[in-house]
Amino acid sequence: RTRFAPSPTGYLHVGGLRTLLNNYYFARQNHGDLLLRIEDTDRERLVPGAIEALVKTLELLGIDYDEGPVIADGVLKEKGDHGPYTQSSRLPLYREHAEKLLASGHAYRCFCSKERLDEVRKQGELAKQPAKYDRCCLKLSTEEVATRVASGDAHVIRLKVPEGETTFTDIIHGKITVPNADVDDQVLMKSDGFPTYHLAAVVDDHLMEISHVLRAEEWLPSTPKHLMLYAAFGWTAPSFAHLPQVLNADRTKLSKRQGDVAVEDYLKKGYLPEALENFLSLIGYNPTGDREIYSREEMVKLFDLSKVNKAGGFFDVTKLNWMNEQYLRKLSVEELMESVKPFLAVANREVPAEMLKKICAVEQGRLTTLKEMVERVEGYLAMPAYDPSILVWKKADVADAKRNLEIIIAFLEAESASLFDTIALLEARILGYIKEKELKNGNVLWPMRVALSGRSASPSPFELAWVLGKDETLRRLAAATKFF
Ligand code: GLU
Repeated sequence: RTRFAPSPTGYLHVGGLRTLLNNYYFARQNHGDLLLRIEDTDRERLVPGAIEALVKTLELLGIDYDEGPVIADGVLKEKGDHGPYTQSSRLPLYREHAEKLLASGHAYRCFCSKERLDEVRKQGELAKQPAKYDRCCLKLSTEEVATRVASGDAHVIRLKVPEGETTFTDIIHGKITVPNADVDDQVLMKSDGFPTYHLAAVVDDHLMEISHVLRAEEWLPSTPKHLMLYAAFGWTAPSFAHLPQVLNADRTKLSKRQGDVAVEDYLKKGYLPEALENFLSLIGYNPTGDREIYSREEMVKLFDLSKVNKAGGFFDVTKLNWMNEQYLRKLSVEELMESVKPFLAVANREVPAEMLKKICAVEQGRLTTLKEMVERVEGYLAMPAYDPSILVWKKADVADAKRNLEIIIAFLEAESASLFDTIALLEARILGYIKEKELKNGNVLWPMRVALSGRSASPSPFELAWVLGKDETLRRLAAATKFF
């Protein structure tokens, strides 16, 4: 049993999706369960509607889980027998467990003010000591603690880190030993009555019967604290695998400042969910090492935690673009049309279905993102303004461009509209005519292509003519001759 346990920030971080995918592949491969748990105990960072948004994004990505919050009939519900799956709905459980730790002597109440804690930290820094609480409140007598609790004094509950050392084996990082003296007496319950992440995650992972915790590497330093909690409760700890960091090109942690981090933003930019998934699942990992394209089914089959790198992996946008191009090329024209439609709708571009199908066929091999289609369709819907000098091929002059445009106009006018039925037909007939008349391909095709697209880089003149049809093709060619 695995779990994905995001804090509801209002968007799904790409690093979070990578963690989720690893949990998903691992769970499905082992015919295990995947749980979604919402870790919302940090009340200052609460975002309204964040859980719904997250659940919707997971739906969009086609990632199903066995237990956790879902949207059914338009409302947020929960499925599974281990709920509630949102931590703010489980507060009595954490309090009860904190009480147990107090009673067994594994935790203590701390009444220190923020000012005092700041002072302790400052002194620690001056003495070049690791930032740790000085255990001042551990010295309080049972009576004094009882009196202060009874009089409503604000306080937290801290873990009493035992002596000795903590050793564990992380599936990815191997054996790790930490002297307990380096571990701070972690706050478990805050003065607002909410648990900290550490207590809540351990209690929930135990009660939800999680067997494998696959999570971001940033939590590796917290794992000794968690193991101390498992030991204090007398529970068996799950297995841990800390996944490599997702980094910017400059090796810093992926951050908003350097680009988008929200999965939703990548989808809005026109990356296909499948491409984003393939790309993210290969950060710090490759199942076979001999290729880059893997379907979800293959990932489930091949997923192997022992092959996951310890070192962080880059979020390389160039690779993501390449990946998206590969997935876009694999779509059928109909699938591409369907995927493009929402982007056109957002941009208010209406393209007749027949024309859109042709544009998709022509542009498919030239697209990096779906959103690019919004601009691409414009050139077909209306002739873009352009600088007429680009009509002249580099090996020709204005008179030559005009003459060749007139030749191709005369040829196309005499042909029936059925010439425009296929790209291949247009290509064969036009090339045949150029040969027959002993003209040069470049001298004819360059001005023709620019006259149809208004751009120096575009699909071929045959493709453009096919999309535009006979009338519009002739109209654009004639308009170009007027420039000279
Ligand atoms: N709520 C934590 C996060 O969003 C989860 C850490 C964990 O998986 O234990 O990073």
